[in-house]
Order: sequence, then C-alpha cells, then structure tokens
Amino acid sequence: MPGQAEIFKQVASAINSASSIAVCAHVDPDGDAIGSTLGLMHLLRSCGKNATPLLASGSHPPLTYAALPGAEELRPSAGAGGFDLFVALDSPDPARLGDARELALATPTLVVIDHHPDNKRYGAINLVDPDSAATGEMIWELAPYLGCTPDASVSACLFTALMTDTGRFSYSNTTPAVFRHAAEMVEAGANVSDLFRQVFESRTPGALALVALTMSRLTFANSGRVAYSWIDADDFANTGALPEETETLIDEIRVIIGVDAVALLKASHDSVRVSLRAKTGFDVGLVARTLGGGGHAAAAGFTRGGTIESVLGELLPHLPSAS
Ligand code: AMP
Ligand code: MN
Ligand code: MN
Repeated sequence: MPGQAEIFKQVASAINSASSIAVCAHVDPDGDAIGSTLGLMHLLRSCGKNATPLLASGSHPPLTYAALPGAEELRPSAGAGGFDLFVALDSPDPARLGDARELALATPTLVVIDHHPDNKRYGAINLVDPDSAATGEMIWELAPYLGCTPDASVSACLFTALMTDTGRFSYSNTTPAVFRHAAEMVEAGANVSDLFRQVFESRTPGALALVALTMSRLTFANSGRVAYSWIDADDFANTGALPEETETLIDEIRVIIGVDAVALLKASHDSVRVSLRAKTGFDVGLVARTLGGGGHAAAAGFTRGGTIESVLGELLPHLPSAS
C-alpha cells in the first residue's frame, strides 16, 4: 500500500493533468463540506486550473456559509458535466454525494478526499485520513504538493472547515497539528473574528425560536444516560427557521452534564434524520452504521424511514443505559 505522501502526490498529479475539475462535498453541507469545496476551488484556480464547485443537494449554500468567498458560485450538480476530474470531499460513501453521485461515478477520474473512518474508498485515488480533524485540513496539507501558495480566500474557507469540524477547536480531534494548521491559515489571511461571527453569531430570530422549542422538548432516556430532542416540518413554519439552520442545534443539547450520548431527531414527512454525539467515549459512529448511516466515533448520523417514536424505539436500545 502506498504511504500517505505518495497518495498526496497521486492526487496532485491527477489535478495537474486535468483540464476541467468538479469539486463537490456531501448532501446537507456543513462547514467542512462548504469550506473544503470552496477552499479547494480557490486553491485549484490559484494553480491555473478550471474548477467548478457543485452542491450535492439544494440549489444554494446554507445561509451560514453564504458570505464565504466564492459561495455565490456554488451550483446544483444537476445539469453539470464535461469534467475530466471529479473531487469528492468529506463523503465516505457515493450515496452521500446525493444529486452528484451519478456524475461523480461517470467522470473519467474520481478522487476522494475524506477524513471519515468508514470511507468506502470508492475513487480511483483515495486520500483518506481518519486522524485529520477536517477534510479542509487535508486540503491545506495538499497545497504544497500542488506547488501553490494558499491565498486569503483559500485560508478563510479552510479555516471555516477546521473551526466547524473541531467544534471551535474544542473536540477531541483538536490536535496540535490542528492548531499549527489554523495558525498557518491565519498567517495566510483567514480573519478569525470575522469568520467566527459569520458562522456562529449570525443566526436569524427564527433559528433562536427553534433552539427554544428544541430545548423545551429535552427528554432523558436510558436511566438518564441519554438526552434527546426532536423537531418536525411544522416547526420550521411555526418559528420561521430555515431547514439549513439546524447544524448547531445538537450542540445546544450536548452541553448537558451527566449523559454519555445525545440525539437530535429531525422528522420530515416519512423519514427521520438523526444526529448523534458522544460525550464520554461511547462510539456513536458504530450505532449510526448499524442503523444505516455513518460518521465518526463522537459525531455521527443516519436517516431512517418512520416516525420520531418508531425511530426512537430503534435507536435507544443501541445507546448506553444503566443496566
Ligand atoms: P451531523 O449530525 O449531520 O452533523 O453529522 C455528523 C456526522 O455524521 C458527520 O460526520 C456526517 O458525515 C455523518 N453522517 C450524518 N448523517 C449521515 C448519514 N445519513 N450517512 C452517513 N453519515 C452520516
Ligand atoms: Mn461534513
Ligand atoms: Mn468533515
């Protein structure tokens, strides 16, 4: 098996020999998905490459990331084509590429860059590093292999990826390397306070009303070792919150003391999307995989057909309990 440096070289070589490159991350994009997509787009363009940023779902980036440089260029993958290289980011499985799945698999060369431990290695080249805190951090490490110096736009986007996937530099994936890379990004022009304000302090009144509703439904289960809450489609209409404004909702629940895991269930008409977070070393990634999803040991998710009640019935027996 080639070493990691060899795979970085293979990725750089695939990029250097491509003439039209699509860059795309997972459905329902988070900060790492949007930050990696735009960061790589800017990096490739600074190397003189033709790069197109695509969305795996929806037609516009989440409001939280709309102010990132180049966000206005993100376009739906439906109808896009003519690429000779597709770079899939932060997506452990082709299914996570949503609307872009077919395009990714049909493009002559598919490169996968990801930090999920359950990555299926579905590309021609797979740059996968579960020790990386964010896919954006891996793109930062790719820059020297491409021979280009990241500018302020690259730095702002990749800092956003790193800041969000580490929980503002607080989760267990916040290694010394994360701080070194973050410092390099700031030196290269990422504005910490601007990015922090854009991402974490630009919520709509509707989003705060949804936080209040979520907190009012906080429930303990499994002899107090699990806390969960839920929202459904009506809540968006009733509060004015946008569906994309739920990314940090689970962080409001995870602050609670004394639990091993927290869950947030988001119901749509016939399915429920579940976000899981572990607090004390329990592996929620394993639970998510068992129920058809995936993710990391400390942060994972899955989507399942059914109602809040039926999905809770399936989920809770897999989470810690006193017995
Ligand atoms: P989220 O709770 O949506 O923030 O997701 C937390 C982690 O779980 C991320 O690393 C996601 O990539 C992963 N994840 C969430 N939903 C799914 C899913 N349906 N399938 C696979 N992985 C998922
Ligand atoms: Mn992600
Ligand atoms: Mn990520």
